[in-house]
Amino acid sequence: MLTAAWLLVCVLLAVPIAHRVARHITQPIELLAQTAEAIGRDHNAGQPALPASAPAEVRLLQREFATMVARLGDSLRLLDTKVRERSAELAAATAQTDTLFRAASDGMVVLDGSRTVLEVNDAFCRMLGHPREDLVGRPLAAFELGVTDAQRALREAQQARAGHARFESALRTRSGDAVPVDVVVTDMPGGGGKVFAGVRDISERRRAETDRAVLEARLRQSQKMEAIGTLAGGIAHDFNNILTLIAGSADLAVGDIPDGHPARQYLDQILRASSRAEALVRQILTFSRRRDEQRDIVAVAPLVHEAAGILRSTLPAMIEIRTDLDGALPAVQADAVQLHQVLMNLGSNAAYAMRDSGGVLTLNVRPLITAPGTAAAGIVLTVSDTGAGMGRDTLERVFEPFFTTKPPGAGTGLGLAVVHGIIASHGGTIEVSSELGQGTTFRVTLPAATAIVAPAAAEAPAMAAAPAAAAPVASPHRKAHVLVVDDEPELVRLMCRQLARLGYTAQGCASPAEALDALREGAESFDVVVSDLAMPRMSGIELAERIRDERRAVAIVLCSGRVTDEDRERAERAGVSEFLAKPFGSQQLADAMERSLGADGTRH
Ligand code: ADP
Ligand code: MG
Repeated sequence: MLTAAWLLVCVLLAVPIAHRVARHITQPIELLAQTAEAIGRDHNAGQPALPASAPAEVRLLQREFATMVARLGDSLRLLDTKVRERSAELAAATAQTDTLFRAASDGMVVLDGSRTVLEVNDAFCRMLGHPREDLVGRPLAAFELGVTDAQRALREAQQARAGHARFESALRTRSGDAVPVDVVVTDMPGGGGKVFAGVRDISERRRAETDRAVLEARLRQSQKMEAIGTLAGGIAHDFNNILTLIAGSADLAVGDIPDGHPARQYLDQILRASSRAEALVRQILTFSRRRDEQRDIVAVAPLVHEAAGILRSTLPAMIEIRTDLDGALPAVQADAVQLHQVLMNLGSNAAYAMRDSGGVLTLNVRPLITAPGTAAAGIVLTVSDTGAGMGRDTLERVFEPFFTTKPPGAGTGLGLAVVHGIIASHGGTIEVSSELGQGTTFRVTLPAATAIVAPAAAEAPAMAAAPAAAAPVASPHRKAHVLVVDDEPELVRLMCRQLARLGYTAQGCASPAEALDALREGAESFDVVVSDLAMPRMSGIELAERIRDERRAVAIVLCSGRVTDEDRERAERAGVSEFLAKPFGSQQLADAMERSLGADGTRH
């Protein structure tokens, strides 16, 4: 019992002691724990003061704890600075990318793996004319034009293989236009299947390309025309000599046989055929721009009315011909005969296009106004028909010499080549527009005549420019004596015989040098020299200049299939009084002789 009481006393005493001891140890530890908690919230929280009674171990623990807290603080501060630096860098980089994205002049698009638009920049919005909201969330394919599934698969395969792809495409704008674009698509690194597309508008480049292609085509066309013109002109020149021989010889033969002779009809046939050939050669020389041209101040309206009149009387009645002329048309400086030919060629083509169903042919002339309020720079002539029209392939070739879609006998293919040559040599332009079944319109422009003065070309050949040599003198009552010069001996023989028929005495030479010798010999005095223009070594013009230099009193007639304005001026300065167009018959020769000598072809 006593033992039990003692035990109770001991326990009662031990509890408060143990409690005090425990408090002695746990209180500092609790404090430390609170500190740790405070530091967890804020690592700058201070260290609490330990009670003086705190055991040494606890103090040691506190010191270690303080060191650890200090280290932790340092690390945290370092980490904090690093994070701040990195965040600033990241913010700057993001801002830069953002600026690039926003300010770029090329379109930029971010797409997800299924090619749905996630983000677009302003340039892309501008390109398509859509606000951003219209684009984001839509598949890019919805704005692409004319891409097949196969093409798309090919691009995606390339992208999968290389990580990027580049292609040209076209996008549809809000207004429905197509914008040609160059697209570069790249995988976004770390973008989880996102891709970035750079989209460049290449309309300018495309325009430049088409402009260049059009220019090149025009150049090729004009070079082709030029080459064919040169070739045809050369052939026509030789042809003229041959035709002169054929027609001249036939002409002589006609004079040699009695009227009722059976051969007469064949000779007439030869003469008719050669005059058809002559007309053809003249046309070829026109488009090769080598024919001698007559330029006058021409009023277009009467010319158009005249052409319309001729077309009305020659074309079937089911073709109606309308003229629509502006009252105030400027005059043009032109060869009226050639302009007439232009109208007839365009008119007859139009009539052919309407031969089955009939239709309306309209000749319309308006002043060409280049700037509002200014005087007309020229005239615009449109010749339109409601006929069969042309497909693209025909349209591209209409001006080509010898291009025709007509059956043999119905067309030569020279009509429009001649028209083109005439208009070009007048400083004008010609365009054609047509569609199959929709009729055809030719639009011709011609510049206005610059000066309203009596045209120089209308004056008589410039005899005034002849050298101050004495007038040719021949003995009275004798037909003139003629010297014939041509490098074609056969032509020389022919001309001598033609001249003899006309009552002249004639002598021939095959070169200008020979001619000069004959003139110098002076045994017989010549009244006229009839010379070819184009001869090897010395031209007819040079021969005329030599004759003038030697002050010989002789009239000079030049024969040629083509005389340029330049040749004509130079020849006139050298005293050439007459030009005889090859090929020529006896009659033209006789006329030229008379004009160069005097009314009856004799010198008194
Ligand atoms: P041709 O009349 O001898 O065929 P052109 O040079 O005048 O030669 O015309 C060439 C071609 O252009 C014609 O064969 C025809 O195919 C086409 N063509 C010209 N004018 C017209 C037109 N008004 N309508 C339809 N086709 C035309
Ligand atoms: Mg024709």
